[in-house]
Amino acid sequence: MNNHARSRALHQRASQVLPRGVSSNFRYWTEEWTPVASRASGGYIWDADGNRYIDYRLGFGPVILGHAHPAINRHVSEAMEDGTVYALTTEREIRVAEKIVEMCPGVDMVRFATSGTEATMHAIRVARAYTGRDKVLKFEGQYHGMHDYVLWSTASSNPASMGSPFSPIPVAASSGMPRPIRDLIITLPFNDFERLEKVVRQQWHEIATIIIEPMLGNLGSIEPLPGFLDLIRGLCDEYGIVFIMDEVKTGFRVARGGAQELYGIRADLVTYAKSMGNGFPIAAFGGKREIMDIIGEGVSHGGTYTANTIAVAAAEKTLEILATTDALETVAERGRQLQKGISDILESYSVPFSFGGHPAMFGVHFNHKKPKDYREWAQGDQRTYDTILEALIERGSMPDPDSREPWFLCAAHTEEDIAETLTAFEDAVKEVLG
Ligand code: PMP
Repeated sequence: MNNHARSRALHQRASQVLPRGVSSNFRYWTEEWTPVASRASGGYIWDADGNRYIDYRLGFGPVILGHAHPAINRHVSEAMEDGTVYALTTEREIRVAEKIVEMCPGVDMVRFATSGTEATMHAIRVARAYTGRDKVLKFEGQYHGMHDYVLWSTASSNPASMGSPFSPIPVAASSGMPRPIRDLIITLPFNDFERLEKVVRQQWHEIATIIIEPMLGNLGSIEPLPGFLDLIRGLCDEYGIVFIMDEVKTGFRVARGGAQELYGIRADLVTYAKSMGNGFPIAAFGGKREIMDIIGEGVSHGGTYTANTIAVAAAEKTLEILATTDALETVAERGRQLQKGISDILESYSVPFSFGGHPAMFGVHFNHKKPKDYREWAQGDQRTYDTILEALIERGSMPDPDSREPWFLCAAHTEEDIAETLTAFEDAVKEVLG
């Protein structure tokens, strides 16, 4: 058993000044143990007690090349010698925008933001402005950030409150969200072709956008069934709806051109964050010129810190490395090695399971049948999975102990790291399942 005394003491102290002792609700584990981090390097993270973990959370995904990447840190340090915010455009920012346009299919223009939440908020405003319609159609179990327009029927909402799949009830994932906003959201089960088609054919004149995580990066990476993304594309074309692909987690991770490249699908607008800055706070939204070009023509977008030097320099170096090296191939290869080992171990214990997603960000589902949406996923044995992961974390490998969060891989993970994790995973499974 690792020593957690200092983490515990620090978390208690934090609770005096930070509600629940954290700066994001998702970082709170339990009163017993909510780890406090001290540092991270490459594929590893250390807690306040000095315990080292192989990190498969990677800050919820951004750290695609490894923590404290020397070349990125150097690039950022040099850039910030010239100041950090100017309230003016910089040449570096132009270069990074050009790079995104080059790497991402169908993206003609971008605007920067500072977080994924901001990126989806702005993209939705642009979609509303472009169509002159108000409603947002999203899918149950998907997460698009913290703003009131999307925090409905996420994987934090109780599926039992969502009503019949034939007539889903949008469930607020937080108190404090104005009730009237519920009239602006339509929530549907993911991968339900028939329901989607029916709702769009009935209500298209009110729908500004269909926003989608191409794989459910906040719900074990559940994937779209073949044809589902094409159906959305077709309906959006037919009814003049803006298709927003939220690539905050998948962008610059599952392929250089994100899920659009992986699935061969083109959205109208796309949001990026996480992997584009390897952990530095930067985001972007972009897409078709015709739509993006309305920004500034009566459509507002801004932010004091958008495209600040630190963020842009981090993105510049990260994107350069992703574009010119085989980093993403390494990430996927390590993911495949891990999946193969996990699969062998779970099969030897006759555990019914399936993988969701891509080797760079995969979920493990303890369901008898591969889940295709939130409601099916919720019938799985999360308790056993979570208990195994807690035992794994005690053995020095740290995926998120919450089964909704995928395992994230980075280019700094080594084959030895994967082997160490698999040994620990087998021990953890043995401990829990005997
Ligand atoms: N969209 C998706 C798909 C996400 O996974 C997240 C964050 N997990 C967000 C949006 C919000 O990003 P941020 O936390 O940077 O606001």
